[in-house]
Amino acid sequence: MATIQQTHAASAATAGAPAIEIAGQSPIQLDWLSHDYGSRLALDGLTFDVRPAEIFGLLGPNGSGKTTLFRILSTLMVPTGGHARIAGFDVATAPNQVRLRTGIVFQQTSLDVKLTVGENLMHQGHLYGLSGSHLKSRSKEVLDRVGLTDRKNDLVETLSGGQKRRVELAKGLIHSPSVLLLDEPTTGLDPGARIDLWNYLRILRDQQGVTVLVTTHLMEEAEHCDRLAILSEGKLVALGSPAELKAKIGGDIVQFETATPDAANALGARIAARFAVAPVMVGNAVRVEREQGHRFLTEVVEAFPGEIVSVSVSKPSLEDVFIQHTGHRFWLDQDEEKS
Ligand code: ADP
Repeated sequence: MATIQQTHAASAATAGAPAIEIAGQSPIQLDWLSHDYGSRLALDGLTFDVRPAEIFGLLGPNGSGKTTLFRILSTLMVPTGGHARIAGFDVATAPNQVRLRTGIVFQQTSLDVKLTVGENLMHQGHLYGLSGSHLKSRSKEVLDRVGLTDRKNDLVETLSGGQKRRVELAKGLIHSPSVLLLDEPTTGLDPGARIDLWNYLRILRDQQGVTVLVTTHLMEEAEHCDRLAILSEGKLVALGSPAELKAKIGGDIVQFETATPDAANALGARIAARFAVAPVMVGNAVRVEREQGHRFLTEVVEAFPGEIVSVSVSKPSLEDVFIQHTGHRFWLDQDEEKS
């Protein structure tokens, strides 16, 4: 049975036209993009551009719409509203033009483990209409780029998880796409292989000018991206570089843990009245953004002795950005879905 990637490739090959870029177009543009699955709105009016040669992250908890957006950009699904364009071509009305310009690395493996690394690449190249010496030299180039030249004649089943993911990356690059889409690319990789993969993505960006879009639900992965779109319940809640997003939160994050959510609500109201701040209550905790967090922390503990179980002061993280925009923790959605 054909994999999704094979179907994608085969129909791109029939498009015929060379992958000429439309000058001046953002590599990826979303314009009021929406998608509903019947009664469930999975994407709600997303509008943003991805810039050329950046590593762009789609960060969101489970259920935020990452997979839906990924499938739309991969031309596997047509959105129910708005537009998504890659290199100026609408994914809904010009899918073959989009496929010629896009490399895709899905979460699920698309490798034939009983073939060698080189054979997997040749097979992928044929699906995109490449052949002969051009395909051979492309195969050599991409293997070199992902550091697997010496494994070309090895069966894929003999490779480590990280090496297999790099073969997936090489497959995604065989037809010289200008945009690479990766769905949760480091899932299942050990820490060393994760670092390697990020290094290869940076090389692609810096040396080949490839625009890379990565979905992730991991904050530490998102930190590697040049810019991020943070999604919650299908909406864009924040857009910018990790540093910019965190810098928008003033000063420190001061957190006061109480015994119960009710106690947190009561304490939050009293802190707000006394110190003229706008606390956010998250479960048992009261969180306040404040310059000179240590001093503020002491003032609050002295003002409300006995109500606070524990305290912390930290520099803002991406989770704080998420909480600031949504009023709830990043992982709460997932917990709620489980229960
Ligand atoms: P994520 O990848 O961020 O976990 P998804 O795009 O998978 O998010 O899901 C977004 C929302 O759409 C969720 O509420 C999910 O339950 C819903 N959803 C996803 N796929 C389907 C489907 N095939 N039918 C109905 N609802 C769906």
